[in-house]
Amino acid sequence: MVEPQLTVALTFDHDGISSEVSRGGGPVLISRGGFGPRVGVPRILRLLDRHRIPATFFVPAHTAVTFRESVAAIVAAGHEVGCHGWAHEDVAQLSEADEQDVMERSAAEIERAAGRRPAGFPAPYWSLSERTLEIALALGFAYDSSLMADDVHLYRVRTGDRHDVQRSALGTPSRLVEVPISWSLDDWPHFEPGRLGLGPMSAPSKVEEIWQAELLYAHEHERSGVLTLTMHPEAIGRGSRIAMLERFILAARQLPGVVFDRLDHVVERWAAANPMS
Ligand SMILES: [Zn+2]
Repeated sequence: MVEPQLTVALTFDHDGISSEVSRGGGPVLISRGGFGPRVGVPRILRLLDRHRIPATFFVPAHTAVTFRESVAAIVAAGHEVGCHGWAHEDVAQLSEADEQDVMERSAAEIERAAGRRPAGFPAPYWSLSERTLEIALALGFAYDSSLMADDVHLYRVRTGDRHDVQRSALGTPSRLVEVPISWSLDDWPHFEPGRLGLGPMSAPSKVEEIWQAELLYAHEHERSGVLTLTMHPEAIGRGSRIAMLERFILAARQLPGVVFDRLDHVVERWAAANPMS
């Protein structure tokens, strides 16, 4: 297969109500999460179907066991389901034993819900402990998507870094592939206010400007890049925002050599083309 000039990966964190339940949120904040399975995901699935786009959904096990039909609909539509913790825990705050336990149990539950072992583990809140990536490696994940050292090129996660304010000793690349992410390509900090409803809420046109400029730059300058968008059904699923996402899709489709793909397939292709030395 000819390497596409640019791959666009649409990813959706289907957090549902998991993060508010685990943080003790009340009925209002829990209902905001409930917008995802009730409204956001069906809208997203219709959009992806209209444009024949395979995408990636990162799902906490809490969502998989609470909103079974929602996750079943994602699987039935042929999208990837990756693992996103059990109840959207900040794993950096867990003990070593609890972190190991959460990652093992959530991977097993996502495997049950999706019918195949999840390939990807993006940490909830993109928060990693010193151990998380080693655990992900040991559990057989193919990729992480929580780091920011590149924008559109995959790379191998380094393990064994030792940091000191005088000098850091950098470790060595591991088998685990990184799909780099960025807060600027994440819908949440642009659109969603804090937990009291206060804070800036961007117009979709502002986010559209940033996302399309990143798309055009990567297409022109970074051959074989992968532009990864991070979205949340309860945020991007609102009318004005999903209309913006559709305009983004149409703009990408105008560019020669742009394809949309799910991340497990992107990572598989990349790892085959970039074997470990
Ligand atoms: Zn999340």
